[in-house]
Amino acid sequence: MLVISTIADLRGHLDAVRAAGATVGFAPTMGALHDGHLSLAAAAAEQCDVVVMSIFVNPTQFGEGEDFSAYPRQLELDLELAQDAGVDVVFTPSVEEMYPADATTTVHVAGLTEMFEGDSRPGHFDGVATIVAKLFAIVGPCRAYFGEKDFQQLAVVTRMAADLDLPVEVVGCPIVREPDGLAMSSRNVYLTPPEREAATVLHRSLRAARAMVEAGERDRAILEAHIASIIDAEPLAELDYVAVVDPVTLQRPDVLASGSSVRILLVARVGIPRLLDNLGIDVA
Ligand code: AMP
Repeated sequence: MLVISTIADLRGHLDAVRAAGATVGFAPTMGALHDGHLSLAAAAAEQCDVVVMSIFVNPTQFGEGEDFSAYPRQLELDLELAQDAGVDVVFTPSVEEMYPADATTTVHVAGLTEMFEGDSRPGHFDGVATIVAKLFAIVGPCRAYFGEKDFQQLAVVTRMAADLDLPVEVVGCPIVREPDGLAMSSRNVYLTPPEREAATVLHRSLRAARAMVEAGERDRAILEAHIASIIDAEPLAELDYVAVVDPVTLQRPDVLASGSSVRILLVARVGIPRLLDNLGIDVA
């Protein structure tokens, strides 16, 4: 496995890979790797000849008072995990390499970024769209693998790649969960044992809502209220937002149409971290 830290070296290597006729799969991450990240590498390895993973804690997607400096960093362990997962190239640029002092360009995806995470974390998606656009420009033509765990991010990145005609096919991958249902996240390390136990309430509430839909409930507001009541009943959890949305537009339908698909987006704070989860439902 190659470890590359400059833009020029990564470009040169991947241009040669493509010139030799091989395809490139790319999994961008902020490190502190877990099985969710490694599932992206596995999907890339299945569908592409050469797998590239970036490990870069991107400062521009963290807001004031967020955990940029405290974000878990474990490069040595990550390199071992990446190698075991079949990654061929790890890209580990410095902040100076990605953001030279004279850079002034930001990528803004309108519409999809104005609600939910965009509302709770002003500027967050500009940071995400800018770094992902830069990484796509550096990696070049590829398939890029993103987790459905960050569902709005996946929608934003897909829109951005299409709008900017980037030569990248964005592929969404299912959420990888702990055995008790908690969605894997690098930020789960912040949870104390009682909070870790309480954190299962997110997935439980989503499953309860899916059962309601399967039993015939079609009223979006009733479903959201039911999830909110389950989260409220857990003293260590505090609801940030819950929204039943169209999976592409992220708009909330009043009534779930039969034959449609919806996504339930849920964010709750448990102790320090905001935990994100979501669930897709096909409406009969
Ligand atoms: P992060 O390092 O948190 O920026 O995440 C890097 C990529 O891994 C993103 O595309 C995430 O959506 C994805 N990811 C994080 N957690 C999971 C998970 N539990 N299951 C699937 N993908 C995930």
